[in-house]
Amino acid sequence: MTLADNIRSIRGRIDAAARRAGRSSDEIRLIAVSKMKSAAMIREAFAAGQHLFGENYAQELALKAEELKDLPIEWHFIGHLQKNKAKLVAKVAACMETIDSITLAEAISRKAPNPIDCLIEVNIGSEEKKSGIASSGLEALASRVAGLPNINLRGLMIIPPYDPDPEKSRPYFRKLKELLGELNKELPLPLKELSMGMSEDFEIALEEGATIVRVGTAIFGERAQ
Ligand SMILES: *Cc1c(COP(=O)(O)O)cnc(C)c1O
Repeated sequence: MTLADNIRSIRGRIDAAARRAGRSSDEIRLIAVSKMKSAAMIREAFAAGQHLFGENYAQELALKAEELKDLPIEWHFIGHLQKNKAKLVAKVAACMETIDSITLAEAISRKAPNPIDCLIEVNIGSEEKKSGIASSGLEALASRVAGLPNINLRGLMIIPPYDPDPEKSRPYFRKLKELLGELNKELPLPLKELSMGMSEDFEIALEEGATIVRVGTAIFGERAQ
């Protein structure tokens, strides 16, 4: 299987899951998660028609964006970010998916050369060691982030607690969609993006309303540990 085959296969599965859920695949975006994969592999995926990529580490994103600057790649940042690295991300990312504090959002807003799309990461399983804002603090954070000058708040993102059974993710996906609905009653501008679902559970996420799925392993293969 080539990268192009993998991407085609994932797109087919996205279309099928969307159809099952009575949704149009036009409203669904696939992020190819390229962390720890080479710029050459990203180039190959780009040539196969994949133009949206996700990275987890600020330095790695900055290096790859520089190396691949001849390509019109759309980068999403999906890792945990310390605010002293906000500039690296704000300079190149089209979307920062892991806002989880007002100080991080302010740093991004200050460093972004142009208004940048952002998602808020929710710690949906209330896991102690996971980043993301607790659901109880979401509304307060969202209204403050939405008020920042250089940020376009678009929606929410989650990484559910790990479980080898992908069906176990479903209630968390459903919960995130509910949270988005509740937020939209409070915020002046409706949010529409739900970034949820990875290699093992993206079809379930799509059945539950994901608009962005983030797939790494199923496209690029296993990552070295
Ligand atoms: C690594 C990563 C992914 C991709 O995970 P796979 O299981 O390899 O598809 C998606 N989202 C985030 C936030 C990640 O860190």
